[in-house]
Amino acid sequence: MKNYINWNFDNSYSKLPEAFKEIIKPVSVLNPELVILNEDLAKELGLDFSKIDKNELSALFAGNILPEGTSSIAQAYAGHQFGHFTMLGDGRAVLIGEHVTNQKKRYDIQFKGSGRTSFSRGGDGRAALGPMLREYIISEAIHSLNIPTTRSLAVTKTGEKVVRENLLEGAILTRVASSHIRVGTFQYIAAKQNIDELKMLVDYTVDRHYPEIKSSTTKAVDLLNLVIEKQCQLIVNWMRVGFIHGVMNTDNMTISGETIDYGPCAFMDQYDPKTVFSSIDKFGRYAFSNQAPIAKWNLARFAECLIPLIDKNEDQAIKTATQIIDNFQTIYEQKWLDMMKSKLGLIGDNKDDLKLINSLLNWMKESKADYTNTFCYLTDMPIKDEIYNDKRFIEWVQAWNNRSTLNNSNKENQIQFMKKVNPVIIPRNHKVEAALSDADKNNYETLYKLLSVIQNPYNPKVDVSEYQSLAPISKEKYQTFCGT
Ligand code: AMP
Ligand code: MG
Repeated sequence: MKNYINWNFDNSYSKLPEAFKEIIKPVSVLNPELVILNEDLAKELGLDFSKIDKNELSALFAGNILPEGTSSIAQAYAGHQFGHFTMLGDGRAVLIGEHVTNQKKRYDIQFKGSGRTSFSRGGDGRAALGPMLREYIISEAIHSLNIPTTRSLAVTKTGEKVVRENLLEGAILTRVASSHIRVGTFQYIAAKQNIDELKMLVDYTVDRHYPEIKSSTTKAVDLLNLVIEKQCQLIVNWMRVGFIHGVMNTDNMTISGETIDYGPCAFMDQYDPKTVFSSIDKFGRYAFSNQAPIAKWNLARFAECLIPLIDKNEDQAIKTATQIIDNFQTIYEQKWLDMMKSKLGLIGDNKDDLKLINSLLNWMKESKADYTNTFCYLTDMPIKDEIYNDKRFIEWVQAWNNRSTLNNSNKENQIQFMKKVNPVIIPRNHKVEAALSDADKNNYETLYKLLSVIQNPYNPKVDVSEYQSLAPISKEKYQTFCGT
């Protein structure tokens, strides 16, 4: 294929030693058919697909033909899955290479659902259309909400069936990430107990994501601090918009601080800190309010990997790492408080701010108020719901208005400030399901419409009331699945 597209591959990860990867190509598929291509993302990557016909695009995004300059691999990693350690790796994905833009930004280009690898552990290496489109929708929604995330460039049907509970349409997602280095990548290399390779991974990660500490003499410690900071920020952002990742295993936590692995994730509607959607999360390990403690737990696993590089004296290294991990709570709580204050448009500090925030959250929980819509209501949007006539809520609004006078700013400014952080649009579960169910019948209009609406979550340009309403009351709890 001629390079009309402007691919510019420069593959650094594949040059790492054997332990890090398996050299492997995507397994060809029978009858690829491109379903969706993300033109906006293509533009950001400096890629132009306009001169390529649909058949060729389909073959490209199915991995049947590889662009020039790729060097495709499956990456090795390990992970604590629901607390249990396992050696894993890309069992159904290949990284075809790293595309470097004119602005010198480096992106992993990965095919997910591209066939078996040596890490497949009995799996078929494939993915189904529904879960890949779901990842496309939610990752793009998270991006539009200004939250760091891996992105979705394309989804292609393979023309092959995959066997799950039913026979499903096979598909491949093209995932774009600033890298796929995970906490689990460190766990894999650390488990091999090869200190040179561990050092190599730290150096590689620092060069790629944290060049500011490149010449530090305490690189491992600095890296740990930076990753904690990034992850705190990420979780706070999830809490801001009511996002529940659903499967925060250590292999699904990036070192870059991007959201990764859109399996059973979903957005909370009615506020309840215990909300869990994933069918396999029986004990609520990854519930909404557990995301920060779990992030801390995962980062402690990351810290353990770095012990040999933190200090030659193991006891001292453990002491240092423990102290750093213990900071998580303080950093997180401060960021969370700042975030909640921004949602309520509160400027400056007042000793009762936390109390005010918690009393709203308690009311929301007891009244089963919609998380997104309650904040929209506070920004004077016309949200029709009788619960906002509740005496307790009206009293709370009075207290909030009193506190707001300390802002030294007018109401209009306060509301504009709030609108920047409180989304009007989230990909509501019933809307996502409707889009996927129509797509399964070869009707993509509902999907396209949903994707266009979620692009402007804070400032919708068209009437979006349909996307603000909750799902019709159903006896069945909404459940999500891992999508394997
Ligand atoms: P995930 O639940 O997507 O985070 O995946 C956990 C592990 O299972 C990773 O190593 C995946 O590569 C692997 N995996 C998931 N689905 C499949 C599949 N269909 N075939 C092979 N490996 C898979
Ligand atoms: Mg994963």
